[in-house]
Amino acid sequence: MRGPFFLITDHLNFVYSHPICYPATMRPSLIIHGGAWDIPDDAVDACKAGCLRALHAGWSALKSGGHALDAIQAAIMVLEDDPVFDAGYGSHLTLDGHVECDAIVMEAATLRAGAVAGLRRVKNPIRAARAVLEKCPHMMLISEGAERFASQHGVPLCDPEELVTSAEREAWLRCSKDSHAAEHHRGHEQGTVGAVAVDEQGRLFAATSTGGTCCKLSGRVGDSPLIGSGCYADAETGGVSSTGYGEAIMRVVMAKTATDFLRPASSTPTRAAQAAIQLLANRGKGTGGLILLDKDGNPGFAFNTPRMAYGYVKDGTQFVAGV
Ligand code: ASP
Repeated sequence: MRGPFFLITDHLNFVYSHPICYPATMRPSLIIHGGAWDIPDDAVDACKAGCLRALHAGWSALKSGGHALDAIQAAIMVLEDDPVFDAGYGSHLTLDGHVECDAIVMEAATLRAGAVAGLRRVKNPIRAARAVLEKCPHMMLISEGAERFASQHGVPLCDPEELVTSAEREAWLRCSKDSHAAEHHRGHEQGTVGAVAVDEQGRLFAATSTGGTCCKLSGRVGDSPLIGSGCYADAETGGVSSTGYGEAIMRVVMAKTATDFLRPASSTPTRAAQAAIQLLANRGKGTGGLILLDKDGNPGFAFNTPRMAYGYVKDGTQFVAGV
């Protein structure tokens, strides 16, 4: 048997060791997304460039034997810092004018996740989610409790206004003048971000980070930080990150469902992704997209929105980004 023994503490402070078997050396793989929406023509180049930057950041952490969790964090932080995406800096504002971010990261080997919701003072919510995954006996923390936990574990807090861009403030002002309407959002339909990576040792992780939907009620939590809906990773099948209309994604528990679609021997990553999006449309009555890696690191993605921003590293050499 290969691989380390992990020490895990559960909510009763009971400490036990859990053997994790990883396959012999694998080819690392990385796929990311920057949201599935009606991305306007004039945002296409910025979305592609952002995806490529995230791929490069993730890949430098992953190549030469790096850890998949570091790669995921590096890729997502680039996307969170880029205001063309709806996560971290540049997130959509709530109806009462604040940024409230949600994020999750999940480990395929153990089915453990770290999730945070309703963060107003964390520049990179993925760091808070990772702190919960690695250091917390619980799997999800919200609002002030999550911020306090993150801060106690080395994640810096910021002024809430540091997360607000002028484009989002202007869009929010337009929305607040009359009813919240689609035309107010032209030019700022940026989306959630996500990443899935497997490293040389077969460690597979998936993550999602979002500012949620524009003009959401304060306290609204969508699919993104929910295990099974916005993200899922299982060493028996693969890892998924979802994006799109959260209330519909939750109805069909889309990320977990997509990984289950990887189970049949006849399945392929693309077919599994397409089947999950079909279900989102038919039963969830919604639109969105997803990226996935199967347990061997083969990428797949699908969406039923006009566009989705995505990128992956092909055969370990070629950086592919598309919108
Ligand atoms: N799924 C996210 C949410 O509903 C939004 C998105 O993916 O863009 O919060």
